[in-house]
Amino acid sequence: GFNCGIVGLPNVGKSTLFNALTNTMKAEAANYPFCTIEPNVGVVEVPDERLYRIAELVKPKKITPTTIEFVDIAGLVRGASKGEGLGNQFLANIRNVDAIAHVVRCFQDENVVHVDGKVNPLRDIETINLELIFKDLESVEKRLQRVLKQAKSGDKRARAEVEALEKLKSILENGKRINPFLSELSDGEKRVVKELQLLTAKPVMYIANVDEEGLFEDNDLVKSVRELAEKEKAPVVKICAKIEAELSELPPEEKEEFLKELGLEEPGLNSVIREGYKLLNLITFFTAGEPEVKAWTVRKGTKAPQAAGKIHSDIERGFIRAEVIKYEDLIREGSLQACREKGLMRLEGKDYEVQDGDIIYFRFNV
Ligand code: GDP
Repeated sequence: GFNCGIVGLPNVGKSTLFNALTNTMKAEAANYPFCTIEPNVGVVEVPDERLYRIAELVKPKKITPTTIEFVDIAGLVRGASKGEGLGNQFLANIRNVDAIAHVVRCFQDENVVHVDGKVNPLRDIETINLELIFKDLESVEKRLQRVLKQAKSGDKRARAEVEALEKLKSILENGKRINPFLSELSDGEKRVVKELQLLTAKPVMYIANVDEEGLFEDNDLVKSVRELAEKEKAPVVKICAKIEAELSELPPEEKEEFLKELGLEEPGLNSVIREGYKLLNLITFFTAGEPEVKAWTVRKGTKAPQAAGKIHSDIERGFIRAEVIKYEDLIREGSLQACREKGLMRLEGKDYEVQDGDIIYFRFNV
């Protein structure tokens, strides 16, 4: 599956958020017999209203949302890149995630100690980002030493890599993450980034954790985070982790009521999950039959046979074609049958790129 690591300084609300996420949306572990779930990994359902609107029309026995994983990466502190506080281990955990949700404290509370004495989200962000940058610099420099030797002996490829590494190094030495610069890098440079598995190449969203008042109007702390994020072209999600935690403990009816009281349409967690999904460049397609209506996740750009492979490797291997109906067409026409009669079902071959919202029936040879 695809996953998103939750990072941030101590006491900013990471575990509160993680627990809220896993409480509400916990997909039953029994549904996922093939993944061993570690205590710091939460499998979370992706809220998607379309699934339920399809189900209203198809009336299946079972409705199955798609999921993503959140990984609680606690323990990042100043000095982690130098091994402080088990730092290296936590940095290694970050290497294994596809994207980063960076929780930032934007609430004041005298009872909650701040590791640096005073609440200051920009300094917090810088502290964490610098640790990741230091770690990446270490990787780049190590590689550079090795490749420089090869370059000296006249190896052309090595010389190109040296140039790429120098470029990455200068970005990092300027205190910048690699990710905002990815689109400006050449394919060769991108390859180097990938090979080194640089931590700062991963996409980031900032999660501004506010108190209740901050939910309705951005406080100055949130404003400062938004400004920074805009420069980095990173999304910001504002939540109150404490309220999310309370919400996540409530039965559905009471949850609705509490949300209404707060003037919220849905839990803030939904935006966290949706933004995480976007950050990972994921799209959803559906399969819709009477036994089950089900949402599936693939990366944008995935071709039909590989999408079929998500369901079963046999379907990928024996792929003949995909019969595709657009979500909007189904909703407008009211049934799969009506779509077929109106010629709204397209037959697509192995080069078809699956689109978000496609409802697909795969034909395959056994
Ligand atoms: P972590 O170290 O980042 O995992 O932080 P925790 O989730 O353990 O939270 C640290 C403390 O901050 C706990 O006492 C939480 O109850 C409190 N906390 C978390 N979110 C909020 C919030 O939105 N508002 C307030 N006032 N306190 C919060």
